[in-house]
Amino acid sequence: MITVEHLSKRYGDVLAVDDLSFTIEDGHIYGFLGPNGAGKSTTLNIITGCLAATSGDIKIDGHDIYEEEREAKKLIGYLPEIPPLYVDQTPREYLKFVAEAKGVKKADIEAEIDRVIDETHITEMQNRLIKHLSKGYRQRVGISQALIGNPSVIILDEPTVGLDPMQIIEIRDLIAELGKKHTVILSSHILSEIQAICEKVLIIYKGKLVAFDNIENLGKTMSEGNQIEILSGGDPLETIELLERNTAITCFEQKEMIDGYNSFKLTTSNSNPYEICEELFVAFAGKGIPLVKLNPIKTTLEDIFIELTSEEDEDALYGGPEAIEPAEEKAIPEQEAR
Ligand code: ADP
Ligand code: MG
Repeated sequence: MITVEHLSKRYGDVLAVDDLSFTIEDGHIYGFLGPNGAGKSTTLNIITGCLAATSGDIKIDGHDIYEEEREAKKLIGYLPEIPPLYVDQTPREYLKFVAEAKGVKKADIEAEIDRVIDETHITEMQNRLIKHLSKGYRQRVGISQALIGNPSVIILDEPTVGLDPMQIIEIRDLIAELGKKHTVILSSHILSEIQAICEKVLIIYKGKLVAFDNIENLGKTMSEGNQIEILSGGDPLETIELLERNTAITCFEQKEMIDGYNSFKLTTSNSNPYEICEELFVAFAGKGIPLVKLNPIKTTLEDIFIELTSEEDEDALYGGPEAIEPAEEKAIPEQEAR
């Protein structure tokens, strides 16, 4: 279990991590989701003991990352955003170096290397120079060094960045496999990636934790936001009648007329607003009502981040079933991360 309490990190004037508190339970794959610059790498570098925090407490299975550094670090395997590979070595040589550095007993080193090579499926590449490996294989070597010493938690910072689609699928499958034996924290700025692999997700935006939930609940939040703008040439009552008939339209509001057309903004529970556009097109055409504009607006990840951080949504924060300590009232006014 990892507990993070009131973690903050300041780089000069930049508040990169702003009072983060959360708990990671054993045995799940967690997604750490946020746009570029949100503070993901900073947080992961601190949790793994690679970077000092400005303030806050971190415990790995009860071991304080500063006071009991050795014990805490032993429990975590880390693949940083930029993996520390020595490209003039072979994977096998490199893994030997890592095993020694991590303090694996001399007698156990060869078996440990065999184990991680097998687990990351790099057997055929183990004696080639790392510089001659594809990016996908290099990333596997990066993951294999995180597995040396068999730590209970594996932390991977944006492991699929720069890979081609086929390599991405392979790395995702590998991560899913790792999730059966380890607690995994996977950071990404891509929602679909987190949705594909993770069971639970923490969303971080501008250094703050804005949501922590099961992936299904987050999916619901996402689809609730899809909207469609329409301009109808029919009279308002006729238009409203047609909109009310579509059960996937959860609500709509009439906007100001535009150039003599009735304007409406619809919200749909369908995660694909294009499907509703098709249905509306057919329904309006059937009644002979011209639709001169039919504009689906898919909620972007950025929209979700903004919505989650907006003040009126504050009740929805920390809405998940996770045991997160309620944030205490802050005595000091929040500082802008600028
Ligand atoms: P992410 O991994 O989510 O993209 P980072 O943790 O890398 O975010 O960065 C968070 C913020 O901290 C950004 O505004 C970034 O510019 C800033 N930052 C990161 N590392 C440094 C550093 N070494 N010095 C100064 N600012 C930094
Ligand atoms: Mg990063």
